[in-house]
Amino acid sequence: MIESFIGLEIHIQLLTKTKVFCNCKNEFTHVPNSHVCPVCMGYPGVLPVLNEEAVRKAYIVCRAMNCHLNEKAVFDRKNYFYPDMPKNYQISQFNSPFGVKGLIEMEGVPKVRIHDAHLEEDAGKLVHEGMTSYCDYNRAGTPLLEIVTEPDFKKPEEAELFMQNFRKMVRYLGVCDGNMEEGSMRCDVNVSVNFEGKGLGRKVEVKNLNSFRHVKLALQYEIQRQSRMITAGESVVQETRLWNDEKKRTEGMRSKENANDYRYFPEPDLPPYCPTKEFLAQIDAAQVELPWVRKRRFIDEYGLNEDGAEFLTEEKEKADFFENAVKGGISIANASSWMRGEVAKDLNKAKKSLGESFLTVEKFVTVIKLLESEKINAQAAKKVMDIIINEDADPMQVIEKNNLMQTADSGEVEAMVDKLLADNAKVVAQIKGGDQKPIGFLIGQLMKTSGGKADPKKARELILNKISQLG
Ligand code: ADP
Ligand code: ZN
Ligand code: MG
Repeated sequence: MIESFIGLEIHIQLLTKTKVFCNCKNEFTHVPNSHVCPVCMGYPGVLPVLNEEAVRKAYIVCRAMNCHLNEKAVFDRKNYFYPDMPKNYQISQFNSPFGVKGLIEMEGVPKVRIHDAHLEEDAGKLVHEGMTSYCDYNRAGTPLLEIVTEPDFKKPEEAELFMQNFRKMVRYLGVCDGNMEEGSMRCDVNVSVNFEGKGLGRKVEVKNLNSFRHVKLALQYEIQRQSRMITAGESVVQETRLWNDEKKRTEGMRSKENANDYRYFPEPDLPPYCPTKEFLAQIDAAQVELPWVRKRRFIDEYGLNEDGAEFLTEEKEKADFFENAVKGGISIANASSWMRGEVAKDLNKAKKSLGESFLTVEKFVTVIKLLESEKINAQAAKKVMDIIINEDADPMQVIEKNNLMQTADSGEVEAMVDKLLADNAKVVAQIKGGDQKPIGFLIGQLMKTSGGKADPKKARELILNKISQLG
């Protein structure tokens, strides 16, 4: 039997207003080199100034991963030459990063030990067109947090699930938008195989995977490739590979450099960072219930099923909305089914998130309470919901304006049914003759003429009664 070992190196772009060591905007733009200055362009004689907001967000993640926080964190220069980094070195952290020895526990994944989390500056982007390469330094110097796990995953699916939950976590914490297509969250995977009981094998690194699917596919491919090799008595070469998604395979890129190649040394232009008690108290205060913990609690506390809890805890915004709606006094079943159903549908149509729409918890609760007390029917509730999601409107006013209150006066509805039956003598005869099918048509007509005010549950009964009375 062959065992596999997987370790992840996850890079997240921290959401800050400015870059990590200068005052340039940290913001995506299509105009190349529009957010640059002498510091991030690596001019001689300039000095880096550490961005406190980047530091705070980095520590929030370290804390959420239960890391030990070094009393004195040190910045180091990682030296290499490549045109995406005009200084010819990257400021990073090596021996004493912000956080070390963390642990993340979630369902479906073995306990994952975090080796460390370190803050560094991102490199620029090279754009290759034919024989010409262009350098865009807008991204150079933007804050990146790199999280390195121990090789604690055994299966590609575990690494994939971990990544998905990790993405939710950084979004819950508000430190990264987790947009993998735009590269704000990227992942390198390390994988080795060995005969069972022999421990770690010789690892291969697959770089720059920008989707969960690629993480899984690249790992599956590598495990097969390496397993075939060791079974045939060959040895795996330690190297860096890339995922080719067209050919669905990994390809060799370069032999693996090691730490010595980078000649790390302490950054002389930045003092070590020593977090104060007050600062750490702020970091503690910024912690939130993590998405997978919250999901489990939603199942236990509200009796939701797996899918329902998964949906409602996808985003912190959605989970908060749900809990506040329930606190507002509507039933768990309605809060959950209306959020998953009509609200999700309308938001999808409007291409907006909950927070971007006009819907508030108060408005949502108002509508559902009217529904629960049978003041309006489901059809009317859907209509109101659609409007208050798309416009800044008051639900009561929408209901009044559209005359959506369920008619308390049943006489009015009865009169409508009388007229309906008189106007549709043929259909009535058909029903009297024992064909129940056209009754749906009559209910539909009644809903239409009543403007949705008739209660569809009662309409059927009423129509049948009236027909039998016709004698
Ligand atoms: P390097 O010095 O090559 O960067 P590290 O020890 O720093 O290697 O580990 C980098 C990543 O590779 C970590 O995520 C770690 O868990 C993983 N890793 C290390 N050794 C192995 C191995 N033998 N098999 C699988 N993953 C490994
Ligand atoms: Zn700059
Ligand atoms: Mg390393």
